[in-house]
Amino acid sequence: MEIVIIGNSSPFPGPKGACPGYLVRTDGANILFDCGPGTVAGLQEFCPVEKLTGVVLSHLHPDHAADLFVLGFAMGLARREGGLQGPIPLYLPPGNTKRFASLCDAFGNLLGFYQEGFTIGEYGEGSLKIGPFTFSFTPAKHNMEAHLVKISSGDGVLTYSGDTGFDLELVDFLAGSNLFLCEATLDPEEDHPSHLTAEEAGILAAKAGVDRLLLTHFRPGADLERKRRDAARVFPGPVAIALPGQRYRVAK
Ligand SMILES: [Zn+2]
Repeated sequence: MEIVIIGNSSPFPGPKGACPGYLVRTDGANILFDCGPGTVAGLQEFCPVEKLTGVVLSHLHPDHAADLFVLGFAMGLARREGGLQGPIPLYLPPGNTKRFASLCDAFGNLLGFYQEGFTIGEYGEGSLKIGPFTFSFTPAKHNMEAHLVKISSGDGVLTYSGDTGFDLELVDFLAGSNLFLCEATLDPEEDHPSHLTAEEAGILAAKAGVDRLLLTHFRPGADLERKRRDAARVFPGPVAIALPGQRYRVAK
């Protein structure tokens, strides 16, 4: 399994950057995690939209979801033009299909067109399968419905924080991860219940005993080397900064 970083910025992209969007792939299956502004453009450098196998959203905040509304255009067109044989699954957090439908309505009755490209559903706290991947979820500590996502493919386990505040109750869910892709939004002097500092990301990674930590979700202009050092002080394994265009192998 491999993860490709499409975007790492929040809550808006910097110059030539993109907000959260991550392509996870193995054996011809391509899953898009989150779809923030700039994701659709960046995605196509690695995967044509008609080759996507599924889309999973951690939550519907616009920095994680706004490009979904143009990805819907791309998928609908791919379906009509024959590049896409049938709709692919789009999984939203519990209770969010209604919210998504009302956004589609606000944008001009687009739900019907999007449904040509997507089968829209919600995940829960159980597991689900898309192609060779098995997914599981747990609620995040965030200021709207948001979930952490774990994806397993047989050759490795990747866990993605989405957006979350600090809570040691998350440790059990993170255990067993070969790679933990974790938000590190806050500077050390900040305190916010819905996001993490790099040090807090490192503490969660250390307590869960994950193999590697990959930090993401940065304000444009953030001091990324300081974030890497802050996490590395408390997490004994390898720590890296997720940068657009980089690819990481996820393996046991
Ligand atoms: Zn958020």
